[in-house]
Amino acid sequence: MNIPRISLIGAGPGDIELITLKGIRAIESADVILYDALANEALLAYSKPTALKVYVGKRLGKYVYTQDQINYKLVELALQYGHVVRLKGGDPYVFGRGYEELEYAKAFNIECEVISGVTSAIAAPASVGIPVTMRGLAESFWVITGTTRTGSLSNDIALAAQSSATVVILMGMSKLDQICDLFIQHGKAQTPAAIIQNATKEEAHFVVATVEELVAKATAQHIQNPAVIVIGEVVSLHPQFIETYVREEINIR
Ligand code: SAH
Repeated sequence: MNIPRISLIGAGPGDIELITLKGIRAIESADVILYDALANEALLAYSKPTALKVYVGKRLGKYVYTQDQINYKLVELALQYGHVVRLKGGDPYVFGRGYEELEYAKAFNIECEVISGVTSAIAAPASVGIPVTMRGLAESFWVITGTTRTGSLSNDIALAAQSSATVVILMGMSKLDQICDLFIQHGKAQTPAAIIQNATKEEAHFVVATVEELVAKATAQHIQNPAVIVIGEVVSLHPQFIETYVREEINIR
């Protein structure tokens, strides 16, 4: 009988090579893999042919399982089969509800481990050449969710908009208008911003603009979820931003 255990793994942002070696080794040993929509399915190729693969993400915009059902399933499958890998996009402790899942499983005395992953919060901007910090431009970065439990915009976004930090917003596309308005209210209409969709994947695309032009440009270029919004001076390092805005400024002068 296999000993029940759970490995919560970050699959990375999309590119299958952006998972850790430790993550791959856990997938190779797994008896069951529960995976989300944002975890690249190609990673399942590393699993044993006999491993049970269970998709627990969204289908046609609707969740196949509720969070409670996933928690229960993790425990049930670990008790039945042994080693369960819970594969999540990016890093499992960045807006992934990973902690809640392990907390539930630990109550059943199931051994749990977390294997960190490359978060899209850093990898998405990096994939288009934007660093989240840079001497002289940004001394810190905030990673904020655009979707809070209550459905309202997180107050942290308003606080971050008053700082000189790089602001990285995940799950923020449905509130992009509100987010940009908030930055404009805080005098950041001209601040450089970017949105990167499907970062590190073949179908990746992105837009770079000032905050005040971001919504129009993102709409024109059909930028959609999953996407990371980045607002801050670091975006001014992007060649496309320099091309569109900095040159204009030089011409004006
Ligand atoms: N744990 C994940 C985040 C989960 S929340 C991580 O660390 O990356 C889901 C949000 O992550 C999406 O709405 C989107 O904002 C972001 N995201 C995840 N993968 C992405 C990708 N490849 N490209 C752009 N955004 C991504």
